Amino acid sequence: MSDASVEVLVIGGGPAGIGAAVAAARMGRRVALIERHPILGGMGTAALVNNFCNAHKVPSRRLIIGGIFAELRQRLIDRKAIYGTQLDPAFWMEAYNPDVFLEQVTTMCREAGVQTLLGRSIRKMSFNSSTHADLDDGSSINAQTVVDATGDATAAFVAGVPFNFGRPGDHAVMPLTYCYSIGPIDLEKVRREMPFAIRRDAVTGEEHVFIEEHTQVNAWVKLARERGELTIPRKHIVSITSIPGNTSTATVNFGRVFCDDPTDPAKLAVAEAQGKQQVEEGIRFYRKYLPGFENVGLVQLARQIGVRETRQIQGLYTLTADDVVSGRQFDDVIAQCCYGIDIHEPGTDGTVIKWVQGEDHYDIPWRCLVPSAGPSNLIVAGRCISATHEAMSSFRVSPSVMAIGEAAGVTAALAAAGATPIAKVPITDIQNRLTATGGILK
Ligand SMILES: Cc1cc2nc3c(=O)[nH]c(=O)nc-3n(C[C@H](O)[C@H](O)[C@H](O)COP(=O)(O)OP(=O)(O)OC[C@H]3O[C@@H](n4cnc5c(N)ncnc54)[C@H](O)[C@@H]3O)c2cc1C
Repeated sequence: MSDASVEVLVIGGGPAGIGAAVAAARMGRRVALIERHPILGGMGTAALVNNFCNAHKVPSRRLIIGGIFAELRQRLIDRKAIYGTQLDPAFWMEAYNPDVFLEQVTTMCREAGVQTLLGRSIRKMSFNSSTHADLDDGSSINAQTVVDATGDATAAFVAGVPFNFGRPGDHAVMPLTYCYSIGPIDLEKVRREMPFAIRRDAVTGEEHVFIEEHTQVNAWVKLARERGELTIPRKHIVSITSIPGNTSTATVNFGRVFCDDPTDPAKLAVAEAQGKQQVEEGIRFYRKYLPGFENVGLVQLARQIGVRETRQIQGLYTLTADDVVSGRQFDDVIAQCCYGIDIHEPGTDGTVIKWVQGEDHYDIPWRCLVPSAGPSNLIVAGRCISATHEAMSSFRVSPSVMAIGEAAGVTAALAAAGATPIAKVPITDIQNRLTATGGILK
């Protein structure tokens, strides 16, 4: 694509960018989606974070996120590529096969008519009444409206939108984690000697490994830390989950790397190196302590270390911890979330968890996506919308960010169609479109 012109330019192909691009393209707009990795999916694929944290209320299991996310989830169910969708009411994580996820999000973008530009990044951007973006391959794009779904709010940052970074006071952000997959796991031995780590999935029928916090595993982690065999500053393993369709291989989320600015490439490189050492340490630990894991080795290392938190734009409203925990509802709701506050504490081995009162949900208001200052044709989607450090630790999970992305895409499409500034798009038009296409706002 050289000197192309689109109505909606989406930057970043993670869950938020995919939601935005598909939503805008389905409204008949010309949409380009730029992603710096050679694949779509963001943290879900490039960082091997292959879990949906709950898009359904616990314990009723009522889905509170619909639209494009629910469609993707159904596609994964149809392909028997996701676990946990029908499990016990208290179960809240749904592990999916990252390859099938990639195949499905790629198909959804193609079917919607999105022009997907992979392996490309923006070199320079200028914002006037429209936006001009120069890409690193020498091509350029003119866009009527822009959705910043970079996770880091990079386009908003370049455009001069004010932002916050990390927690108040010291600006520290949550630690990073290198995710990876391991195998082969001896499922027979796990069943015999670690039965708590085995589940049978109701939809796929597959018997598979699922380890999160468990007293026995926590005790092994403690022992290995006391012996100096584990230096990872974490008290427990977040998760080890078989990959649907490949049960003797599991993806692992167990690592904690502190980095004061993951948007700085040099600091990120140092974090990546440390993260890789933690991967090796983790594998030595499973081989020594977990029955059935004696022969595991590294099957796949993620393309990049997983980044949880960087910039949050300052928007027309800033979501707070109180909004999350009290289950606040807003007139300009564009998405809901029922995952609680989950802060991987910067600088310590602790985690702060606070659930939404009454195991209910809260609303994400549209104003959090709209920058308080800066270009009138720019909207922000995903984990970097306007929120405090605590509040973002909740809605950053992939189902909610995909729903936020969908709302950003609808807004950008309406703004482009009506040649209207983003902030002037009527909220009722956005909500009507979202609910007409399966969105759940109540
Ligand atoms: C280690 C870890 C574990 C997690 N565990 C879970 C979990 O179990 N369940 C869950 O639901 N969520 C989990 N999350 C949270 C969730 O994965 C992320 O918050 C979510 O993916 C954020 O979506 P996003 O689209 O906003 O950003 P991202 O997924 O980060 O996507 C942003 C995309 O933009 C691209 N990009 C950035 N800058 C540019 C640029 N300049 N040009 C082009 N492309 C660019 C990036 O390459 C990336 O693909 C986890 C996150 C991490 C890091």
